[in-house]
Amino acid sequence: MQVPLLDLKAQYQTIKPEIDAAIQQVVESQYFIMGPAVAELETRVAQYCGCAHGIGISSGTDALLIALMALGIGANDEVIVPTYTFFATAGSVSRLSAKPVFVDMEPDTYNLNPGAIERSITARTKAIIPVHLFGQCADMDPIRSIARKHNLNVIEDAAQAIGAEYQGKKAGSMGNAGCFSFFPSKNLGGFGDGGMVLTNNADLAEKIRVLRSHGSKPKYHHKIVGGNFRLDTLQAAVLLVKLKYLDSWTAARQKNAKDYDALFQDAGLLPDRVRIPARKQTRHIFNQYVIRVERRDALQTYLKEKEVGAEIYYPVPLHLQECFAALGYKEGDCPAAEEAAGASLALPIYPELTLEQKQYVVNCIRTFYELPT
Ligand SMILES: *Cc1c(COP(=O)(O)O)cnc(C)c1O
Repeated sequence: MQVPLLDLKAQYQTIKPEIDAAIQQVVESQYFIMGPAVAELETRVAQYCGCAHGIGISSGTDALLIALMALGIGANDEVIVPTYTFFATAGSVSRLSAKPVFVDMEPDTYNLNPGAIERSITARTKAIIPVHLFGQCADMDPIRSIARKHNLNVIEDAAQAIGAEYQGKKAGSMGNAGCFSFFPSKNLGGFGDGGMVLTNNADLAEKIRVLRSHGSKPKYHHKIVGGNFRLDTLQAAVLLVKLKYLDSWTAARQKNAKDYDALFQDAGLLPDRVRIPARKQTRHIFNQYVIRVERRDALQTYLKEKEVGAEIYYPVPLHLQECFAALGYKEGDCPAAEEAAGASLALPIYPELTLEQKQYVVNCIRTFYELPT
């Protein structure tokens, strides 16, 4: 049985006529840059996440970059980031000549460990970027109180967490700015790159809007240097259709996670063979379903032979990446992340997954651990 890590064709088939009509409408209008769908998507996503302002951006990476730019982060500034995350969280900081300062994760949730933040704060620290990894919110209350105490900005990297909740508040609505990605593999994915910044601060929203089009306002008059960070109208049109289905897709992902949990339990794999991260927040949206296992690489190879897609998020924590070598981190600096990097494996969790497929995945894993080593 084939079980790909993600099956976007299956999702497209369920909404094809609506999507095709939305694309065709943009094509007929030939209004490709900042067309009406962009503004509508901004309003809808902001509303969905309980935020006042939305600014459509070219990608999740650019959303982080433009939020940092708008907050004035630059050379000689330091920004606290988790070491266990996708590269863009820290890459965006470096691109502004600021310094990412890496903090370890909580071993059980994979999210930024609030207890490890304060010792990394210096006089140069300007912001914290908590990441809501795999679809579960970071522990925002202690993070926000540390930020308040030290007068730091909080930029949420909510790329994997659209619709996730922390104590009734939506991911991306709790900091100075929340950054989202519409990369095709995210829970709300476009037909290419896309992203958004949400904020409750009207001045910040306006600054991001101006930065998005070369810092120009009015047109051809530039008080600040921005870039081309616009979201395509075509992407916005596709995303507007998909947004209507997001909650039902999230429910399907949550059901899949529950089924996996039960199947692993029934197979006798918990907790010795398969460890499941702690779920402390009320609304986990399961962008990824990650397990921790022994002999991870061999299991991944075995699953591949059995036509099951499984991916390693992430094999190298950022403090050990070659491009950050000059920052002087070494192995042992972030032990929880280093342990996770050697043992984590993401399994297929996409909404259209069938019960037979989930059973097959768990059976394959059980068989692997029964094989003689
Ligand atoms: C996907 C992702 C990004 C970057 O988003 P893109 O749209 O691919 O640029 C940033 N941070 C995290 C945590 C992500 O998962």
